[in-house]
Amino acid sequence: MKLIQLTETLRSAPTAPVFVVGAGVTGCVFAERIASLFRRTVVLLEKRAEIGGNSRADIDPETGVERHLYGSHIFHTTNRGVWDYVRRFSDFTPYRHRVFLKVGGRVYSMPIDLKTINDFYGTQFSPAEARAFLTEKIREEGVSAPRNLEEKAVSLVGRGLYECMIRGYTAKQWGRDPSELPESIINRLPVRYRYDDAYFSTPWQGIPAKGYAELFSNLVRSPLVEVRTGVDFFAERRSFPRNAVVIYTGMIDRLFDNRFGTLEWRSLRFEWENVPVQDYQGTSVVNYGDPDVPFTRIHEFKHYHPEWKESWALGKTVICREYPAVWAPGGDAYYPLGDEKNRTLLSRYMAEAEKTPNLFVAGRLGSYQYLDMDGAMAQALACFA
Ligand code: FAD
Ligand code: UDP
Repeated sequence: MKLIQLTETLRSAPTAPVFVVGAGVTGCVFAERIASLFRRTVVLLEKRAEIGGNSRADIDPETGVERHLYGSHIFHTTNRGVWDYVRRFSDFTPYRHRVFLKVGGRVYSMPIDLKTINDFYGTQFSPAEARAFLTEKIREEGVSAPRNLEEKAVSLVGRGLYECMIRGYTAKQWGRDPSELPESIINRLPVRYRYDDAYFSTPWQGIPAKGYAELFSNLVRSPLVEVRTGVDFFAERRSFPRNAVVIYTGMIDRLFDNRFGTLEWRSLRFEWENVPVQDYQGTSVVNYGDPDVPFTRIHEFKHYHPEWKESWALGKTVICREYPAVWAPGGDAYYPLGDEKNRTLLSRYMAEAEKTPNLFVAGRLGSYQYLDMDGAMAQALACFA
């Protein structure tokens, strides 16, 4: 069924039991809204041992550092409603994300801004000069309608910056040459002809002041939300009453026994290390673009909380190397491949979901979509507008 029919369904079946499957951002927001607005009991099922989904973080007992267990997570949004909503459950720090790229023996700021362009070409261009210079480089490529990521990238920044900063990183990240990838992947990466190394161009940004764990426990703190962790929906669903309303935020293909085929994802592997130094790399995230370096990024999580003085005073840090990995069914799914073949498959599963009474599919796994946390929240909140 379509998500917009959720509130109508809840109203027309006031005694039907409500189950939310998956306690990531999406599931927690659905549970919170239904408990608050409908004063209904919601059973929130989560197959992992803890809530928070891929946005989960914990505190390392040795260093006091908050570790983002599934890669760095920075809350950022352009959506005023989402920003007002999320701050009801946690205060946020004024953290502003920046990223640096190490490649070819140099360090650049990422995304590409005027400093990156000047550093790369050894120039002192003004914004207008840089634009004119790159426009000429772009024209030389002769791409009018980009058909893949490589064509899109050279049509944005020209061949030189692409070969240095995008090609190697992207090939490692996706395990394919950029010429075989959809152009949409690069849409997230802006190009700026001014000195602005902010990673996100959003007006609101920050990290939950006391950590992500507190944000999630506050989201589900209502006594009407019954959280059951370590429970797989597929092991339980036969015991659900026939009139149950189910909001499902797991993988959409799994919901239908993968009957049309399996949607493909890219995975990641994280290698953790506690290092006895005050500051390992001077910032939260450094990207590695060289093809012979097997990881794509190093995260140093203490930089997300410069205000946590006690942890900084210990003189230790936690780092994590991120390695792209092949995804196999049952493994952790990170990035949807999102090419035409998979999009066609998705539409078949979505059609099945729409035909199933009292079933609502949402979230990044259910929508087979890269959703930031604010996007996941917005999708859920829109159902109650
Ligand atoms: P998930 O977090 O995946 O939650 C789904 C939950 O459902 C999981 O806990 C899963 O265990 C559970 N589940 C699935 N199947 C079942 C089942 N059968 N039974 C019971 N439970 C089940 N967003 C940002 O805003 N900022 C960032 O900086 C950022 N960084 C990211 C970095 C990486 C590497 C990636 C991949 C994503 C990043 N995101 C970021 C996106 C963010 O992770 C998502 O927005 C968020 O995870 C979406 O939440 P969700 O609830 O839809 O999915
Ligand atoms: N990218 C790149 N070089 C970089 C960083 C990103 O080529 O140093 C490309 C790469 O294709 C990546 C995409 O930009 O998949 C999106 O990057 P982002 O950092 O937004 O991805 P995420 O944080 O979601 O992994």
